[in-house]
Amino acid sequence: MTDRADLAAHLRLFSDLGVNGVSRDASWRERAAMPMNPGPEGPGLHGESRGATNLSDEAPDLPGGAPDLQVGGPSLSAPPAQPMASPDAAAFSALPMTPAPDALQALRVHIGDCTRCPLGKLGRKQVVFGTGDPAARLMFVGEGPGADEDQQGEPFVGQAGQLLTKIIGAIDFGRADVFIANVVKCRPPGNRNPEPVEVETCSPFLLRQIEIIAPRVIVALGAFAAQTLLQTKVPISKLRGHVHEFRPGTKVIPTFHPSFLLRNRNNRDLYRDVWEDVKKARALLADPD
Ligand code: URA
Repeated sequence: MTDRADLAAHLRLFSDLGVNGVSRDASWRERAAMPMNPGPEGPGLHGESRGATNLSDEAPDLPGGAPDLQVGGPSLSAPPAQPMASPDAAAFSALPMTPAPDALQALRVHIGDCTRCPLGKLGRKQVVFGTGDPAARLMFVGEGPGADEDQQGEPFVGQAGQLLTKIIGAIDFGRADVFIANVVKCRPPGNRNPEPVEVETCSPFLLRQIEIIAPRVIVALGAFAAQTLLQTKVPISKLRGHVHEFRPGTKVIPTFHPSFLLRNRNNRDLYRDVWEDVKKARALLADPD
C-alpha cells in the first residue's frame, strides 16, 4: 500500500469511528487524555474485554474496565509468553489430514450440539463455530459469543463485530478473506467471562481450527484471547505492541478488543494502537518468508 492509500485507509477508519476532523490544538494529540484507571477487577484476564461484547447489552456509560495502559507503550521487557500446548492429538485422530474446508466441517460435526462444558447447558441457543475462509492467512480470535452472535450463529455480528468488520476493511480485507473465531464457542450467560473449566474444555477446538487453517497471523482481540492463546497472565497492555510466536509459521498479534474500543470511544490512542497492530499484521502477511 502506498503512503497515500495508507493515509486514506487510516482516515476512513477514523471517520467510520466518528472522528471527523483534526485540531491544531496540541492537547488533541496528547496521550492519555482519558482516565485510564483499571476497573474493579483490575487489568488481569477479565479486566478488559467482556462486559460490552454486545453493546445492545450494555449501558452506554459502563465504568472503566480499562487495561493498565502505560504512557509510552508496553514494556519491552515483558516476560515472554509460553505458547499454548497443542490439543491432545488423540482427541482428533478421527480427523485425519483432509483439505481445510473438509477438516473444518469434520471438526464442526465433531463438536455437534456441544454440552461438554457448563456453557452448553446455560441457555445458549447454539454453538458459534467461526466463519470465514478455511485457508485464511489472517485469523481474528475473540473471547466468546454474545447475544447477537448466539442468535445468528456467527461470531462478531453485534456492534463490536461491526467495528471489527471496519477494522478488517481498513487493511483491505473482507470478513470472507479472514477467519473469525472465539476462545469459547457458546455464549456465557449474562455476558460473564468464561470460567477456566469452560476455556479448558473448549479451547482445544480453537487450537484445532488454528491447526487446520494454519494462518500466518492471528490477531488476538482482547486480554482474554491473547492470554489464552499465549498461555500467560501478562496484561494485554504489555502483550500488545509485540509480535509473539505462536508456533512455527504462525504469529500472534494481541490488540484491544473492539468492545473495549467502543467503551472508550473518545480515546483515540487506543484506536491508533489497534490501527498500528492491524497494519503490522498486514505487513507480516506481505513478508515473503
Ligand atoms: N465479542 C467476542 O469476543 N466475540 C464475539 O463473537 C462477539 C463479541
